[in-house]
Amino acid sequence: MKVTLLYALCLLGCGLLLPCLAQAMEPDPAADARRFIAAHEADVRPLEKAMGLAWWNANVTGKDADFKAKEDAQNQLDAALAQPEKFAKLKSIRQALSRLSKPADPLLVRQIDVLYLQYLEKQVDPALLQQMSAKGNAIEKAFNQYRAKVNGQEMTDSQVRQALKDSKDSKYLQAVWEASKAVGPVLESDLKAIVKLRNEAARKLGYRDYHVLQLTLGEQKQEDVLKLFDELDRLTHPAFLRMKAEIDAQLAARFGVPVADLKPWHYQDPFFQEAPPIGDIDFDAVFAKADILALCKKFYTGIGLPIEDVLARSDLYEKPGKSPHAFCTDIDREGDVRVLANIVPNEYWMNTMLHELGHSVYSSKNIPSAMPYVLRSEAHTLCTEGIAMMMQVFAHNAAWLTKMGLPVADPKAFAAAGAHLERHNLLIFAAWCQVMFRFEKELYANPDQDLNKLWWDLVERYQGLKRPAGRNAPDYASKIHIVSAPAYYHNYQLGQLFASQLHHAIAREVLHTEPAQALYNDHPEVGQFLREKVFAPGRSLPWNALTKFATGADLNAKAFAADLAGE
Ligand SMILES: [Zn+2]
Repeated sequence: MKVTLLYALCLLGCGLLLPCLAQAMEPDPAADARRFIAAHEADVRPLEKAMGLAWWNANVTGKDADFKAKEDAQNQLDAALAQPEKFAKLKSIRQALSRLSKPADPLLVRQIDVLYLQYLEKQVDPALLQQMSAKGNAIEKAFNQYRAKVNGQEMTDSQVRQALKDSKDSKYLQAVWEASKAVGPVLESDLKAIVKLRNEAARKLGYRDYHVLQLTLGEQKQEDVLKLFDELDRLTHPAFLRMKAEIDAQLAARFGVPVADLKPWHYQDPFFQEAPPIGDIDFDAVFAKADILALCKKFYTGIGLPIEDVLARSDLYEKPGKSPHAFCTDIDREGDVRVLANIVPNEYWMNTMLHELGHSVYSSKNIPSAMPYVLRSEAHTLCTEGIAMMMQVFAHNAAWLTKMGLPVADPKAFAAAGAHLERHNLLIFAAWCQVMFRFEKELYANPDQDLNKLWWDLVERYQGLKRPAGRNAPDYASKIHIVSAPAYYHNYQLGQLFASQLHHAIAREVLHTEPAQALYNDHPEVGQFLREKVFAPGRSLPWNALTKFATGADLNAKAFAADLAGE
């Protein structure tokens, strides 16, 4: 009896005392981490889903009330992530986990790392944040309201683009180009002010400048991205210059001027970020009678990644008030994935639908539900952009079109024109991204330097355009991304590198053919490869570890450069 009683007491005592003692003597950061994650899921997950739905509704209807609801949902989510005491707790859990002699479960550590970045982004001083968004909104509004004025006539942005493409009159082109840049001086001082506010916010969080902070939030180091851009330049700049010499000869003939007299307004795009139209192949004609959705279903089903469920939840055609753009969104990380589009039967929408549905297959639809909620998304936006770009290129590919049952009048000419256009676009966009990445990096490092000169030095070096004699104007300020999507542009190019490298891996390991010959049509093993090598890890791997897992190498520019080496 006594014994039993003692034993019972002891059991009770141990049951109560031991964990307390253990906690007092040696804290358990893994248990703390699990508790933090559980609380995050309980509080933040419903807000993220509400935000996803509100975002979707606002873009589908365009109604003021829905935009208001979207703003409210965003504010609620931001407020939940901004709480300083939660961030302090997260920081201490993260430090404690890193100090453990026996490392904790890697998935647990990874969740805490991802949450740390998500909360860090929202720790900006509220007063600064308010000033930044007020300035940002004012600049965007001024930008949207600005109209280029030529010969007393106002022009919209698309009229400017059309005029640069259509006119053969150098004087008129110069006037249109200069008018399109005249928004720069209007925005210059506000832009410099917002850059300084952003830098101040970054420094308060312990970062050298805002560019460094933004890259950190995307798990990127400035010096690593710079190294990649240097490699890209080394491997592609000679091919770019050869291609540009070809374009220059064509443009000189078009405008009846010597090559030496070509000016930035002769390149048929305000920033020379897209290839001037070449030849007379009408890509739209191929799709004029095509059923774009049927083609997408056929293609994605054939590679073992069916998308019927996505299409059923999507909003795909034009209607009043609706956003004119296209995007794909994962509402709940439980498979509710939707595409917003405005399909008309032409080449642009074939391209765009292949692209958006590429995003849709790399989502919670195909990331195993066993992956924890926090990690149930793409490794990085550059990776999902890469998948989308890898799929969209087929719209220009004559062999792909033939397999899809779309007749092309002159397949040989179409194939040549398609390859030519693709190559030009990729080389031109890569050169343009060099300018954007390097300019933004320097802009935040030293906003007081001569930015007009910096911009044109970079444009001359990487895009091979000549600055108009004596020009000293803030032409960088006419690129809205510098205001509205700061320190992000380089990810478009990194996504392109990821797309090429992954395509080469698929050609080599799955289809056993040359990359240029690798079509995915009716190869479900391509989908299987993507499921296992890209989708399954979710965000449990950072972008570069995922690249290595999927392709066997760190992200690099070799595959991209090899595709563009020559024709
Ligand atoms: Zn995209």
